[in-house]
Amino acid sequence: MVLYLTSSFIPHQELGSYEKLEPLDSYGFFEDLRKEWPGPANFLYVPCNPKATEENEHQMKRVLDAFEFSKLPIKDTKVLDEKSSAKACVDWADVIYLAGGHAPTQLNFMKRVGLKSAIFDFGGIVIGLSSGAANAAYYVYHMPEREGEAMDPNFIRFTDGLDLTNIQIIPHKDYIQTLKVDGLSLVDDIIIPDSFGCKFYFISDESYFKAKDGRTIFKGKGEIIEDGLVTPLKQGAIVPFMGYVEQPVIKTLFSEGYDMVFCVEKNDKRCEVYYLNDDLRNLFVQTHLEYNEICEKLALTVVPEERASYLDQIRLPVIKREMNKRGDYVRTIHVDTPLGRRAKNIRVKEVPGYPDWYMVIYIDITTILDHDWMTDEYARTGFLDRANVFLDELTADDHYSLVYANVKEFKAVNELFGNQKGDMVIFQTRDALRKHLKPMLMGRLESDHFAVITDDENLNEKNLKIMCRQVFKGESMEYTFEIHCGIYQINNPTIDIMQIIAGAKLAEKSLRISKRNMLFAYYDDSMKENYVKQRFLLSDFERALADNEFEPYYQPIVNAKTGKIVSAEMLIRWRHRDLGMVSPADFIPIIESEGKTSLLDKFMVERGIDFIEKCFTLGKRAVPCAINLSRVDFYDTAFIESLFEYIKRIEPAMVRFEVTESAYADLESKALEYLDKMKKHGINILLDDYGSGMSSLSMLETFDFDIIKLDIGFVRKIGINKKSESIIISTIKLAHAIGAKVTAEGVETEKQLKFLQDADCDYIQGYYFYKPLPEVSFENLLDSL
Ligand code: C2E
Ligand code: CA
Ligand code: CA
Repeated sequence: MVLYLTSSFIPHQELGSYEKLEPLDSYGFFEDLRKEWPGPANFLYVPCNPKATEENEHQMKRVLDAFEFSKLPIKDTKVLDEKSSAKACVDWADVIYLAGGHAPTQLNFMKRVGLKSAIFDFGGIVIGLSSGAANAAYYVYHMPEREGEAMDPNFIRFTDGLDLTNIQIIPHKDYIQTLKVDGLSLVDDIIIPDSFGCKFYFISDESYFKAKDGRTIFKGKGEIIEDGLVTPLKQGAIVPFMGYVEQPVIKTLFSEGYDMVFCVEKNDKRCEVYYLNDDLRNLFVQTHLEYNEICEKLALTVVPEERASYLDQIRLPVIKREMNKRGDYVRTIHVDTPLGRRAKNIRVKEVPGYPDWYMVIYIDITTILDHDWMTDEYARTGFLDRANVFLDELTADDHYSLVYANVKEFKAVNELFGNQKGDMVIFQTRDALRKHLKPMLMGRLESDHFAVITDDENLNEKNLKIMCRQVFKGESMEYTFEIHCGIYQINNPTIDIMQIIAGAKLAEKSLRISKRNMLFAYYDDSMKENYVKQRFLLSDFERALADNEFEPYYQPIVNAKTGKIVSAEMLIRWRHRDLGMVSPADFIPIIESEGKTSLLDKFMVERGIDFIEKCFTLGKRAVPCAINLSRVDFYDTAFIESLFEYIKRIEPAMVRFEVTESAYADLESKALEYLDKMKKHGINILLDDYGSGMSSLSMLETFDFDIIKLDIGFVRKIGINKKSESIIISTIKLAHAIGAKVTAEGVETEKQLKFLQDADCDYIQGYYFYKPLPEVSFENLLDSL
């Protein structure tokens, strides 16, 4: 849309008299208009009052005369009235003329027929004359013109207009200047006092504004009346701020507790301040400031040590650079103020229509950040702040603990059931914690992690057990989820809250690595040592690999009936230069958690294949060797692909891969394709630790495992638990029914062996026959048989 706002461009003629007159010299208005004119145009006349037919005809005739003289061709004309559809008329029109007349009457009419919404995205030319130009503004000032209006308490002076511009025009300056209404001087007694908080463009006839592509220019003569002051209006580009702060979006911002809103001119750094909260109001006495002055003053609200870094983040060049790059600038700066730690959010935006200006908004978002809007508990920062206060007030007689709660496998819940159900699980966790722990203080630190400070008396074992196992009821299904809790007993109130949380978190983490299915654990200092050791091993294993500290062991597996060695499992050993022998149970889970086991397993595959190849070349006896694969190995596709290269060197039946039950459950389709491919190559795939998890049966259905390895936990229960014994018997039957063999792991006693033999178990692995052996010993053992 191209918008022309004029005071007038037609010579004044009284109603009743008419002469075809040439239009006035209008500062280039018609030449300008001709550049925009679309050719023979459909012309829509929007009257002031559709009932005033005589007036309307009179004005339209004179406007069309002016166009004719100026060689602006008109194809057809229409007059908007009460009955016509504003939308249809606007769609039809190329040029819309908003007539002059009594401004309040016209605005009422335009609102009644819905012109405001119809014209909103109009693409043609809009010309406003006098009241038509005034009503085009977003925020309109209707000055009292007629007798009685100045004194009429019901006369509305400020109202919302068509919202096509922020320019508020008062037309016919030369005429109005001497006008009196109800005995008052219109300018001095009415307009100027009304101008506080507003900006009026008071312009002479023939003057006009043109707004196009977000820029507004002024041609002609006029004045600006703003805050009671009258200043000359220069020709050229205009920055019309009047009404900006009245826009709904900004109004909402203010009501949400903003600190400060202002605009800054990009180059000369001049600022227009629109809004200040009560605290800042005494810092800024005037509203016209330099950007740098504003920065310096805002910095005064920050403690001296942090002022420099604060200023660094609100400097104009910094903002400009980023605005040019991505179109907006948002920072939250955490600063110490005399009122405590605060989060100050600064956001900068382009001002639509005013390319030389930025709008800058400051908000104190401390309270917003402190609150977790989802659970209505404290968010991380809020929790930490309050916890510090709580600790300060703690005495030696108080017995409190911090519980760090984490929903087990929450990611899987989200993926399985969708985010909405995931949210429900969060709510249920919050409710369970509230109910059972009766928190003194509670916060959600991030996604599914909560921290609760509670009296020790709430932490009895029974209570915790009930709390930690939750049943989530959906519309059509039930799902059990577990809450893992790490507990830190606060014995020393001078300890830092971060340390307490770290301790509770370690205790929680220990539940993940431990195999014992515990749901809560108390922190003790050994966990820290353990953690330190784990971090150390993690950072050290790549060096150890280069330094040859790893070594494969082979645990022979025998035929259950004959006791003859039929295969072996390869198990990794780490002979650490300082720590001595480190168990894989201690380092595999950590390296796994970093997704790096493929480095180790690659080493094991290389060594295993070398060994088998060597046996064959030397014409010695060899048995198939099984290598353990971790779930994360499948993410390293280069490693998995390389396996197919390695096995070309030997008989594929001589290597086997073990995949644990829990790993298999998490495998994605890509990994399953690899397993299929391995099987097609003639490699046996073993299901490890069968029976240690939950969904064992369904796994047998989805993949044809060659051998199923009964979990060590089952074997332990032989002779102890009848139910486990029955499960073993039926598992072996089931495996046989689907064509798989069974290996029992961890067989240590004669009794266990006897039971397994009777149950028709195929193979036995365990200390009863052999412990894992170094390569040479294993080689010698095979030789000796
Ligand atoms: P796993 O795959 O279930 O290995 C069997 C574990 O049981 C081995 O422990 C073995 O030494 C132990 N074991 C065998 N027979 C008996 C017995 O009669 N009594 C007892 N108490 N234990 C017995 P290890 O070698 O400590 O390995 C622990 C776990 O570490 C393995 O469990 C496996 O998950 C992982 N692991 C070991 N080597 C590797 C490897 O090269 N790569 C990968 N990814 N994981 C490995
Ligand atoms: Ca294994
Ligand atoms: Ca196993």
